[in-house]
Amino acid sequence: MQTITILGATGSIGVSTLDVIARHADKYSVFALTAHSQITALALQCRQFNPKYAVVSDAAAAASLQALLAESGCATEVLWGVEALCQVASDDGVDTVMAAIVGAAGLVPTLAAVQAGKKVLLANKEALVMAGGLFMQAVAESGCVLLPIDSEHNAIFQCLPTDYSSAVSSGVKKLLLSASGGPFRGWSLEQMRSVSPEQACAHPKWSMGRKISVDSATLMNKGLELIEACWLFAVPAQAVEVVVHPQSIVHSLVQYTDGSVLAELGNPDMRTPIAQALAWPQRIESGVADLDLFDIARLDFEQPDMQAFPCLAIASAAARAGGDAATILNAANEVAVQAFLDQRIEFTQIAEVVEQTLNGQVLSEPESLELVQQSDSAARLYSSSYIKRLEK
Ligand code: NAD
Ligand code: MG
Repeated sequence: MQTITILGATGSIGVSTLDVIARHADKYSVFALTAHSQITALALQCRQFNPKYAVVSDAAAAASLQALLAESGCATEVLWGVEALCQVASDDGVDTVMAAIVGAAGLVPTLAAVQAGKKVLLANKEALVMAGGLFMQAVAESGCVLLPIDSEHNAIFQCLPTDYSSAVSSGVKKLLLSASGGPFRGWSLEQMRSVSPEQACAHPKWSMGRKISVDSATLMNKGLELIEACWLFAVPAQAVEVVVHPQSIVHSLVQYTDGSVLAELGNPDMRTPIAQALAWPQRIESGVADLDLFDIARLDFEQPDMQAFPCLAIASAAARAGGDAATILNAANEVAVQAFLDQRIEFTQIAEVVEQTLNGQVLSEPESLELVQQSDSAARLYSSSYIKRLEK
Protein backbone atom coordinates (compact mmCIF):
# COMPACT_ATOMS: atom_id res chain seq x y z
CA MET A 1 0.00 0.00 0.00
CA GLN A 2 1.40 3.40 -1.06
CA THR A 3 0.34 6.34 1.13
CA ILE A 4 -0.12 9.63 -0.67
CA THR A 5 -0.29 13.32 0.14
CA ILE A 6 -1.85 15.53 -2.52
CA LEU A 7 -0.78 19.17 -2.29
CA GLY A 8 -3.50 21.07 -4.18
CA ALA A 9 -6.12 18.30 -4.05
CA THR A 10 -9.06 20.47 -5.19
CA GLY A 11 -7.40 21.62 -8.42
CA SER A 12 -7.54 20.07 -11.86
CA ILE A 13 -4.49 17.82 -11.24
CA GLY A 14 -5.57 17.01 -7.68
CA VAL A 15 -9.01 15.86 -8.84
CA SER A 16 -7.53 13.74 -11.66
CA THR A 17 -5.10 12.17 -9.16
CA LEU A 18 -7.95 11.20 -6.83
CA ASP A 19 -9.82 9.78 -9.82
CA VAL A 20 -6.90 7.42 -10.56
CA ILE A 21 -6.41 6.55 -6.86
CA ALA A 22 -10.13 5.70 -6.50
CA ARG A 23 -9.70 3.04 -9.21
CA HIS A 24 -7.00 1.28 -7.13
CA ALA A 25 -8.12 1.29 -3.50
CA ASP A 26 -6.02 -1.88 -3.02
CA LYS A 27 -2.79 -0.06 -3.95
CA TYR A 28 -3.08 3.55 -2.73
CA SER A 29 -4.39 5.24 0.40
CA VAL A 30 -4.62 8.98 1.01
CA PHE A 31 -2.55 10.36 3.90
CA ALA A 32 -3.32 14.07 3.48
CA LEU A 33 -5.24 16.41 1.17
CA THR A 34 -4.62 20.15 0.95
CA ALA A 35 -6.46 23.12 -0.57
CA HIS A 36 -6.27 26.90 -0.50
CA SER A 37 -9.88 28.05 -0.15
CA GLN A 38 -12.25 25.49 -1.72
CA ILE A 39 -13.47 24.16 1.62
CA THR A 40 -16.68 22.48 0.43
CA ALA A 41 -14.85 20.53 -2.28
CA LEU A 42 -12.13 19.53 0.20
CA ALA A 43 -14.73 18.35 2.74
CA LEU A 44 -16.33 16.11 0.10
CA GLN A 45 -12.92 14.66 -0.78
CA CYS A 46 -12.19 14.01 2.91
CA ARG A 47 -15.48 12.15 3.28
CA GLN A 48 -14.68 9.97 0.27
CA PHE A 49 -10.97 9.28 0.92
CA ASN A 50 -10.76 9.59 4.69
CA PRO A 51 -7.25 11.06 4.93
CA LYS A 52 -5.45 11.41 8.25
CA TYR A 53 -4.98 15.17 7.67
CA ALA A 54 -6.51 18.00 5.65
CA VAL A 55 -4.59 21.26 5.33
CA VAL A 56 -5.92 24.69 4.32
CA SER A 57 -4.29 28.12 4.10
CA ASP A 58 -5.66 29.98 7.12
CA ALA A 59 -7.36 29.61 10.49
CA ALA A 60 -10.78 30.79 9.25
CA ALA A 61 -10.82 28.19 6.45
CA ALA A 62 -9.68 25.55 8.94
CA ALA A 63 -12.60 26.37 11.28
CA SER A 64 -15.12 26.14 8.40
CA LEU A 65 -13.67 22.82 7.24
CA GLN A 66 -13.66 21.48 10.79
CA ALA A 67 -17.37 22.32 11.13
CA LEU A 68 -18.23 20.63 7.81
CA LEU A 69 -16.31 17.48 8.73
CA ALA A 70 -17.83 17.31 12.24
CA GLU A 71 -21.33 17.41 10.68
CA SER A 72 -20.59 14.27 8.70
CA GLY A 73 -18.62 12.49 11.42
CA CYS A 74 -15.39 12.48 9.38
CA ALA A 75 -12.33 11.97 11.63
CA THR A 76 -9.80 13.81 9.42
CA GLU A 77 -7.65 16.19 11.46
CA VAL A 78 -7.62 19.76 10.12
CA LEU A 79 -4.40 21.82 10.05
CA TRP A 80 -3.53 25.14 8.43
CA GLY A 81 -0.57 27.16 7.12
CA VAL A 82 2.69 26.54 5.28
CA GLU A 83 4.30 24.62 8.16
CA ALA A 84 1.40 22.18 8.12
CA LEU A 85 1.80 21.76 4.33
CA CYS A 86 5.48 20.91 4.92
CA GLN A 87 4.56 18.52 7.71
CA VAL A 88 2.12 16.48 5.60
CA ALA A 89 4.61 16.50 2.71
CA SER A 90 7.44 15.10 4.82
CA ASP A 91 5.73 12.98 7.51
CA ASP A 92 7.15 9.48 8.11
CA GLY A 93 3.69 8.12 7.29
CA VAL A 94 3.85 9.32 3.64
CA ASP A 95 5.47 7.49 0.71
CA THR A 96 4.45 9.68 -2.23
CA VAL A 97 3.68 13.38 -2.62
CA MET A 98 1.76 14.79 -5.56
CA ALA A 99 2.95 18.42 -5.86
CA ALA A 100 -0.03 20.08 -7.55
CA ILE A 101 -0.29 23.51 -5.94
CA VAL A 102 -0.24 26.18 -8.63
CA GLY A 103 2.55 28.76 -8.69
CA ALA A 104 5.32 29.82 -6.33
CA ALA A 105 3.15 28.90 -3.30
CA GLY A 106 4.04 25.26 -4.00
CA LEU A 107 7.81 25.65 -3.68
CA VAL A 108 8.34 25.33 0.07
CA PRO A 109 6.08 22.28 0.66
CA THR A 110 7.41 20.55 -2.48
CA LEU A 111 10.99 21.13 -1.31
CA ALA A 112 10.02 19.67 2.08
CA ALA A 113 8.88 16.48 0.32
CA VAL A 114 12.11 16.36 -1.71
CA GLN A 115 14.30 16.88 1.37
CA ALA A 116 12.43 14.13 3.21
CA GLY A 117 13.30 11.75 0.35
CA LYS A 118 9.70 11.09 -0.70
CA LYS A 119 8.67 9.89 -4.12
CA VAL A 120 7.71 13.28 -5.59
CA LEU A 121 5.29 13.57 -8.51
CA LEU A 122 5.90 17.06 -9.86
CA ALA A 123 3.04 18.95 -11.53
CA ASN A 124 3.95 22.30 -9.93
CA LYS A 125 6.42 23.37 -12.66
CA GLU A 126 6.70 26.89 -11.21
CA ALA A 127 8.60 25.47 -8.20
CA LEU A 128 11.27 24.04 -10.49
CA VAL A 129 11.37 27.11 -12.74
CA MET A 130 11.85 29.55 -9.86
CA ALA A 131 14.42 27.52 -7.91
CA GLY A 132 15.79 24.91 -10.35
CA GLY A 133 19.38 24.80 -9.07
CA LEU A 134 18.43 24.46 -5.41
CA PHE A 135 15.62 22.06 -6.22
CA MET A 136 17.78 19.64 -8.22
CA GLN A 137 20.56 19.87 -5.64
CA ALA A 138 18.04 18.87 -2.94
CA VAL A 139 16.91 15.96 -5.14
CA ALA A 140 20.51 14.78 -5.51
CA GLU A 141 21.21 15.12 -1.78
CA SER A 142 18.12 13.29 -0.56
CA GLY A 143 18.14 10.71 -3.35
CA CYS A 144 14.39 11.22 -3.74
CA VAL A 145 12.63 9.83 -6.80
CA LEU A 146 11.36 12.77 -8.86
CA LEU A 147 8.79 11.92 -11.53
CA PRO A 148 7.42 14.51 -13.96
CA ILE A 149 3.63 14.89 -14.28
CA ASP A 150 3.63 17.63 -16.92
CA SER A 151 2.51 15.59 -19.95
CA GLU A 152 5.46 16.65 -22.14
CA HIS A 153 8.08 15.87 -19.50
CA ASN A 154 6.37 12.65 -18.57
CA ALA A 155 6.50 11.69 -22.27
CA ILE A 156 10.22 12.55 -22.48
CA PHE A 157 10.87 10.61 -19.28
CA GLN A 158 9.20 7.58 -20.86
CA CYS A 159 11.30 7.96 -24.05
CA LEU A 160 14.65 8.18 -22.21
CA PRO A 161 16.64 5.11 -21.11
CA THR A 162 15.89 3.99 -17.54
CA ASP A 163 19.50 4.66 -16.48
CA TYR A 164 19.47 8.17 -17.98
CA SER A 165 21.85 10.59 -16.28
CA SER A 166 22.88 12.98 -19.05
CA ALA A 167 22.05 13.63 -22.70
CA VAL A 168 25.65 13.06 -23.82
CA SER A 169 26.08 9.65 -22.19
CA SER A 170 22.68 8.52 -23.50
CA GLY A 171 23.13 9.63 -27.12
CA VAL A 172 20.35 12.21 -26.89
CA LYS A 173 20.60 14.99 -29.46
CA LYS A 174 17.44 16.98 -28.81
CA LEU A 175 14.28 17.01 -26.76
CA LEU A 176 11.30 17.93 -28.93
CA LEU A 177 8.72 19.59 -26.68
CA SER A 178 5.15 19.40 -27.97
CA ALA A 179 2.92 22.48 -27.78
CA SER A 180 -0.76 22.48 -28.74
CA GLY A 181 -0.49 26.14 -29.71
CA GLY A 182 -3.33 27.06 -27.32
CA PRO A 183 -6.65 28.73 -28.18
CA PHE A 184 -5.05 31.49 -30.27
CA ARG A 185 -2.85 29.41 -32.60
CA GLY A 186 -2.66 31.16 -35.98
CA TRP A 187 -3.81 34.52 -34.55
CA SER A 188 -1.81 37.76 -34.92
CA LEU A 189 -0.76 39.93 -31.96
CA GLU A 190 -3.34 42.50 -33.06
CA GLN A 191 -6.15 39.93 -33.03
CA MET A 192 -5.17 38.82 -29.50
CA ARG A 193 -5.11 42.32 -28.00
CA SER A 194 -8.71 42.38 -26.77
CA VAL A 195 -9.36 38.72 -25.90
CA SER A 196 -11.20 38.04 -22.62
CA PRO A 197 -10.10 35.78 -19.73
CA GLU A 198 -12.88 33.36 -20.76
CA GLN A 199 -11.50 33.10 -24.31
CA ALA A 200 -7.96 32.63 -23.00
CA CYS A 201 -9.06 29.91 -20.57
CA ALA A 202 -11.00 27.94 -23.22
CA HIS A 203 -8.19 25.57 -24.20
CA PRO A 204 -9.02 23.46 -27.27
CA LYS A 205 -7.48 20.21 -25.97
CA TRP A 206 -6.81 20.27 -22.22
CA SER A 207 -9.06 21.13 -19.29
CA MET A 208 -6.89 22.87 -16.64
CA GLY A 209 -6.78 25.53 -13.90
CA ARG A 210 -7.07 29.17 -14.97
CA LYS A 211 -3.42 30.18 -14.47
CA ILE A 212 -1.95 27.40 -16.61
CA SER A 213 -4.73 27.95 -19.18
CA VAL A 214 -3.66 31.58 -19.64
CA ASP A 215 -0.01 30.45 -19.76
CA SER A 216 -0.96 28.02 -22.52
CA ALA A 217 -2.68 30.81 -24.45
CA THR A 218 0.40 33.12 -24.29
CA LEU A 219 2.79 30.14 -24.82
CA MET A 220 4.49 31.16 -21.56
CA ASN A 221 3.54 27.65 -20.44
CA LYS A 222 5.85 26.27 -23.13
CA GLY A 223 8.56 28.68 -22.01
CA LEU A 224 8.21 27.50 -18.40
CA GLU A 225 8.28 23.92 -19.68
CA LEU A 226 11.46 24.55 -21.65
CA ILE A 227 13.14 25.67 -18.41
CA GLU A 228 11.57 22.72 -16.57
CA ALA A 229 13.00 20.31 -19.16
CA CYS A 230 16.51 21.78 -18.83
CA TRP A 231 16.50 21.09 -15.07
CA LEU A 232 14.77 17.70 -15.15
CA PHE A 233 16.90 16.21 -17.92
CA ALA A 234 20.16 18.14 -17.42
CA VAL A 235 20.26 19.63 -20.93
CA PRO A 236 21.05 23.16 -22.14
CA ALA A 237 18.20 25.30 -23.55
CA GLN A 238 19.72 24.85 -27.03
CA ALA A 239 18.92 21.14 -26.86
CA VAL A 240 15.18 21.72 -26.43
CA GLU A 241 13.03 22.54 -29.46
CA VAL A 242 9.37 23.52 -29.30
CA VAL A 243 7.15 21.78 -31.86
CA VAL A 244 3.58 22.97 -32.30
CA HIS A 245 1.31 19.95 -32.66
CA PRO A 246 -2.37 20.98 -32.55
CA GLN A 247 -3.88 17.50 -32.07
CA SER A 248 -2.05 17.04 -28.70
CA ILE A 249 -1.61 13.33 -29.30
CA VAL A 250 2.20 13.17 -29.49
CA HIS A 251 3.08 14.48 -26.03
CA SER A 252 6.80 15.03 -26.80
CA LEU A 253 9.73 13.28 -28.48
CA VAL A 254 13.40 12.46 -27.96
CA GLN A 255 15.78 12.63 -30.92
CA TYR A 256 18.90 10.44 -30.68
CA THR A 257 22.25 10.80 -32.43
CA ASP A 258 21.63 7.70 -34.57
CA GLY A 259 18.55 9.29 -36.17
CA SER A 260 16.00 7.48 -34.00
CA VAL A 261 13.16 9.59 -32.65
CA LEU A 262 11.07 8.15 -29.81
CA ALA A 263 7.68 9.60 -28.94
CA GLU A 264 4.93 8.95 -26.42
CA LEU A 265 1.38 9.18 -27.74
CA GLY A 266 -1.99 9.16 -26.04
CA ASN A 267 -5.27 10.98 -25.65
CA PRO A 268 -4.86 14.38 -23.96
CA ASP A 269 -5.90 13.40 -20.43
CA MET A 270 -3.66 14.06 -17.41
CA ARG A 271 -4.72 10.76 -15.81
CA THR A 272 -2.20 9.02 -18.12
CA PRO A 273 0.95 10.76 -16.78
CA ILE A 274 -0.50 10.65 -13.24
CA ALA A 275 -1.07 6.88 -13.44
CA GLN A 276 2.32 6.36 -15.10
CA ALA A 277 4.10 8.15 -12.26
CA LEU A 278 1.99 6.66 -9.45
CA ALA A 279 2.68 3.10 -10.60
CA TRP A 280 6.21 3.58 -12.01
CA PRO A 281 7.97 1.33 -12.93
CA GLN A 282 4.76 -0.72 -13.24
CA ARG A 283 1.62 0.21 -15.19
CA ILE A 284 -1.95 0.60 -13.96
CA GLU A 285 -5.29 1.38 -15.54
CA SER A 286 -6.01 5.14 -15.59
CA GLY A 287 -9.56 5.50 -16.90
CA VAL A 288 -8.30 7.15 -20.10
CA ALA A 289 -9.96 5.99 -23.33
CA ASP A 290 -7.82 3.95 -25.76
CA LEU A 291 -6.17 6.02 -28.49
CA ASP A 292 -7.94 5.44 -31.80
CA LEU A 293 -5.41 6.22 -34.54
CA PHE A 294 -8.02 5.77 -37.29
CA ASP A 295 -10.16 8.37 -35.59
CA ILE A 296 -7.17 10.75 -35.23
CA ALA A 297 -6.18 10.06 -38.87
CA ARG A 298 -3.48 12.75 -39.08
CA LEU A 299 -0.84 14.42 -36.94
CA ASP A 300 0.39 17.94 -37.83
CA PHE A 301 3.59 19.70 -36.75
CA GLU A 302 4.57 23.34 -37.22
CA GLN A 303 7.05 25.96 -36.00
CA PRO A 304 5.93 28.23 -33.15
CA ASP A 305 5.15 31.83 -34.19
CA MET A 306 7.67 33.77 -32.08
CA GLN A 307 6.33 37.19 -33.22
CA ALA A 308 2.75 36.55 -32.18
CA PHE A 309 3.81 34.77 -28.95
CA PRO A 310 6.69 36.82 -27.48
CA CYS A 311 6.45 35.02 -24.11
CA LEU A 312 8.15 31.96 -25.60
CA ALA A 313 11.15 34.01 -26.77
CA ILE A 314 11.33 35.86 -23.43
CA ALA A 315 11.35 32.57 -21.47
CA SER A 316 13.91 31.08 -23.83
CA ALA A 317 16.19 34.09 -23.28
CA ALA A 318 15.72 33.76 -19.50
CA ALA A 319 16.70 30.08 -19.71
CA ARG A 320 19.91 31.03 -21.50
CA ALA A 321 20.64 33.96 -19.16
CA GLY A 322 20.68 31.70 -16.06
CA GLY A 323 21.08 33.14 -12.56
CA ASP A 324 17.72 34.23 -11.16
CA ALA A 325 16.27 35.21 -14.57
CA ALA A 326 13.78 32.33 -14.42
CA THR A 327 12.77 33.28 -10.85
CA ILE A 328 12.02 36.83 -12.03
CA LEU A 329 10.25 35.58 -15.16
CA ASN A 330 8.01 33.27 -13.14
CA ALA A 331 7.13 35.89 -10.51
CA ALA A 332 6.36 38.61 -13.06
CA ASN A 333 4.28 36.18 -15.08
CA GLU A 334 2.21 35.12 -12.06
CA VAL A 335 1.48 38.77 -11.24
CA ALA A 336 0.67 39.65 -14.87
CA VAL A 337 -1.59 36.62 -15.41
CA GLN A 338 -3.57 37.49 -12.26
CA ALA A 339 -3.90 41.11 -13.44
CA PHE A 340 -5.19 39.85 -16.81
CA LEU A 341 -7.67 37.49 -15.11
CA ASP A 342 -8.83 40.46 -12.97
CA GLN A 343 -9.24 42.43 -16.23
CA ARG A 344 -6.70 45.05 -15.17
CA ILE A 345 -4.42 44.58 -18.21
CA GLU A 346 -4.84 43.29 -21.76
CA PHE A 347 -3.80 39.81 -22.79
CA THR A 348 -0.89 41.08 -24.90
CA GLN A 349 0.41 43.17 -21.98
CA ILE A 350 1.35 40.00 -20.07
CA ALA A 351 4.49 39.69 -22.22
CA GLU A 352 5.25 43.39 -21.78
CA VAL A 353 5.05 43.18 -17.97
CA VAL A 354 7.34 40.14 -17.88
CA GLU A 355 9.88 41.61 -20.28
CA GLN A 356 9.98 44.99 -18.53
CA THR A 357 10.37 43.32 -15.14
CA LEU A 358 13.31 41.27 -16.41
CA ASN A 359 14.85 44.43 -17.90
CA GLY A 360 14.35 46.24 -14.59
CA GLN A 361 16.26 43.74 -12.41
CA VAL A 362 19.98 43.07 -12.00
CA LEU A 363 20.52 39.30 -12.27
CA SER A 364 22.12 37.48 -9.36
CA GLU A 365 22.88 33.88 -8.36
CA PRO A 366 20.02 32.41 -6.30
CA GLU A 367 22.24 30.34 -4.02
CA SER A 368 19.81 29.92 -1.13
CA LEU A 369 16.05 29.71 -0.65
CA GLU A 370 16.15 33.16 1.00
CA LEU A 371 17.82 34.64 -2.11
CA VAL A 372 15.26 32.96 -4.40
CA GLN A 373 12.45 34.40 -2.28
CA GLN A 374 14.09 37.85 -2.37
CA SER A 375 14.30 37.80 -6.19
CA ASP A 376 10.71 36.56 -6.35
CA SER A 377 9.46 39.38 -4.05
CA ALA A 378 11.44 42.09 -5.83
CA ALA A 379 10.08 40.98 -9.22
CA ARG A 380 6.51 40.91 -7.85
CA LEU A 381 6.89 44.46 -6.52
CA TYR A 382 8.34 45.71 -9.79
CA SER A 383 5.68 44.09 -11.98
CA SER A 384 2.85 45.22 -9.69
CA SER A 385 3.94 48.84 -9.90
CA TYR A 386 4.49 48.54 -13.68
CA ILE A 387 0.90 47.27 -13.98
CA LYS A 388 -0.37 50.22 -11.91
CA ARG A 389 1.26 52.57 -14.42
CA LEU A 390 -0.33 50.65 -17.33
CA GLU A 391 -3.75 50.97 -15.72
CA LYS A 392 -3.55 54.80 -15.65
P1 NAD B 1 -5.73 24.60 -10.22
O1 NAD B 1 -5.83 26.08 -10.17
O2 NAD B 1 -6.85 23.83 -10.81
O3 NAD B 1 -5.47 24.02 -8.74
C1 NAD B 1 -4.50 24.57 -7.90
C2 NAD B 1 -4.51 23.91 -6.54
O4 NAD B 1 -3.57 24.60 -5.71
C3 NAD B 1 -5.86 23.97 -5.81
O5 NAD B 1 -6.06 22.81 -5.05
C4 NAD B 1 -5.68 25.16 -4.85
O6 NAD B 1 -6.48 25.03 -3.68
C5 NAD B 1 -4.20 25.08 -4.53
N1 NAD B 1 -3.63 26.40 -4.22
C6 NAD B 1 -3.73 27.53 -4.98
N2 NAD B 1 -3.08 28.55 -4.39
C7 NAD B 1 -2.56 28.07 -3.23
C8 NAD B 1 -1.80 28.65 -2.17
N3 NAD B 1 -1.45 29.95 -2.18
N4 NAD B 1 -1.46 27.86 -1.12
C9 NAD B 1 -1.82 26.55 -1.10
N5 NAD B 1 -2.53 25.96 -2.07
C10 NAD B 1 -2.91 26.70 -3.13
O7 NAD B 1 -4.37 24.26 -10.99
P2 NAD B 1 -4.00 22.96 -11.85
O8 NAD B 1 -4.42 23.15 -13.25
O9 NAD B 1 -4.40 21.73 -11.12
O10 NAD B 1 -2.41 23.06 -11.86
C11 NAD B 1 -1.63 22.72 -10.72
C12 NAD B 1 -0.16 22.69 -11.12
O11 NAD B 1 0.02 21.65 -12.08
C13 NAD B 1 0.31 23.98 -11.81
O12 NAD B 1 1.64 24.24 -11.43
C14 NAD B 1 0.24 23.66 -13.29
O13 NAD B 1 1.18 24.37 -14.05
C15 NAD B 1 0.59 22.16 -13.27
N6 NAD B 1 0.05 21.42 -14.41
C16 NAD B 1 -1.28 21.33 -14.60
C17 NAD B 1 -1.79 20.63 -15.69
C18 NAD B 1 -3.27 20.48 -15.90
O14 NAD B 1 -3.69 19.77 -16.83
N7 NAD B 1 -4.12 21.07 -15.09
C19 NAD B 1 -0.91 20.05 -16.62
C20 NAD B 1 0.46 20.17 -16.39
C21 NAD B 1 0.94 20.85 -15.29
MG1 MG C 1 2.46 20.58 -20.12
